[in-house]
Amino acid sequence: MREDAISLKPGLYVTATPIGNLGDITYRAVEIMKGADLILCEDTRQTAKLCAAYDIKTPRTAYQEHNAARVRPEIVKRLESGGAVCLVSDAGTPLIADPGFKLVREAVEAGVDVFPVPGPSAVIAALSASGAPSDRFTFGGFPPPKKGARRKFFDGFADTRGTLVFYETGNRLGDSLADMKDALGDREAVVARELTKIHETFYRGALGTLASDFADATPKGEIVVLVFPKAEAAPDESEVNSFLCGALSQMSVKEAAAAAAEKFSMPRRIAYERALALRDNAAPGEKP
Ligand code: SAM
Repeated sequence: MREDAISLKPGLYVTATPIGNLGDITYRAVEIMKGADLILCEDTRQTAKLCAAYDIKTPRTAYQEHNAARVRPEIVKRLESGGAVCLVSDAGTPLIADPGFKLVREAVEAGVDVFPVPGPSAVIAALSASGAPSDRFTFGGFPPPKKGARRKFFDGFADTRGTLVFYETGNRLGDSLADMKDALGDREAVVARELTKIHETFYRGALGTLASDFADATPKGEIVVLVFPKAEAAPDESEVNSFLCGALSQMSVKEAAAAAAEKFSMPRRIAYERALALRDNAAPGEKP
């Protein structure tokens, strides 16, 4: 083991690496990469650049779609006999639209410890700066490349609540945005390109407008598309009024409005105006 390498507990370390800006690696990720017996990479040349930047000399081997089934049993054996193996992908978090799921599952089934070493992922980076609601979201990965399958794929998200997040390539972006508009309606959306890199750009607008903007353009670089949630249907007016009347008999206008806003997911200002009107229209001596 090298002098600057820490001693690691045996197990599989699922390690996130930068999605563009090399500075986004964590201290712990560098320590784990230095301390592991072996680094499993999606592409050894890609990971070599990161290792050169952080003086990581650990042996590396490829673990990707083409050899995964063949090498997985050997890796699991190595883990079972006490190895400390680090899994990285070309960028971001392994398993997120990247290889690694079957290895993690088999390691878990073999009773091997699996440690997450968290860090960047394009889905989270895009969501965090998009302005799209972030309390609930669904990550859809890459849509299918062919039109028919892609349209069906987006249809499957039509009733999904919360923000939708997809990965897409520049040459399919325009067609994909048009299919999203047809399947999901003309919702607000954000195209996040080249996150953490020099040409990082956010394009914001309705899906239809973005689809025409990108219809004949093939933006360079890596892309995440975020689609805002479907607009909630307006709450039934008589239901809101009857709730407010009940609330106003027990609490202040402000408190009743806050309770209605919470219950019906409506803006507080609208709930307050309604509560005021109900209170003021109540006959003298009569409770609203
Ligand atoms: N495992 C990675 C992660 O955690 O984000 C994702 C790997 S997936 C094969 C690559 C896709 O992620 C790209 O085609 C793009 O859609 C998205 N992506 C990765 N890096 C990005 C970046 N810097 N800016 C925008 N999108 C990015």
